Amino acid sequence: MICAHRSDHVKSWDEFSLIPGAGSAIGRLNESGIRVFVITNQPGVAKGIFTLGQAEDVNNRMVDQLSRDGGEVQRVYICPHQESDRCDCRKPSPGMLAEAAAEYGVDLTRSVVIGDTVRDLGAAASAGAASILVRTGKGETEAARLSGLGLEPRYIANDLSDAVDHLLDGIE
Ligand SMILES: [Zn+2]
Repeated sequence: MICAHRSDHVKSWDEFSLIPGAGSAIGRLNESGIRVFVITNQPGVAKGIFTLGQAEDVNNRMVDQLSRDGGEVQRVYICPHQESDRCDCRKPSPGMLAEAAAEYGVDLTRSVVIGDTVRDLGAAASAGAASILVRTGKGETEAARLSGLGLEPRYIANDLSDAVDHLLDGIE
C-alpha cells in the first residue's frame, strides 16, 4: 500500500498522499531486479463517485512521483468494480495478479503481495503468492482480524520500507 489511507475515496491528486519513503523503498527492490506492480480496488468508479479516467490520472501521477523518488512501477492495475459486480479482478480475487502474470511473465509463486488489507492478503493466497501485511493505512486494525480468516502473511511490517527490508534479507 503506497498511499495513506483515507476513510473516503481519493478522487483527485490533491487528496492523495504518498507514504514517505515509498519511492526509495521501491527503488531498492528495482536494484535487486524485482519488478513492482500496483493492484488497486477502485469501487468509487462503479459507484459513480469518480470516473475511471480520474482514477487513472491519480495513479499516473503517483507513478510519476514514485519515479522522481527513484522507484519504478511497471504497471498499475485498476479494478473499477464494486462487490455486487462479482468481477474476477476485485481483490481478494486474483484477477489483477493473473493479468500481470500473463502480460509480464510474472511467476506468482515467486511473488509477494504487500498490502494493508485482508483483501490484499486474500488475493495473494488465491494466486499462490506470498504476502506481507503493512501496519500503515488500515493494516493495524486488519492485523487484529487475521486469526480466524486463515490468512497468514509471511511477515507483518511496520511500513513499506520495513517490508522491503524483510524481502531483501530473504534474498541475500
Ligand atoms: Zn473488477
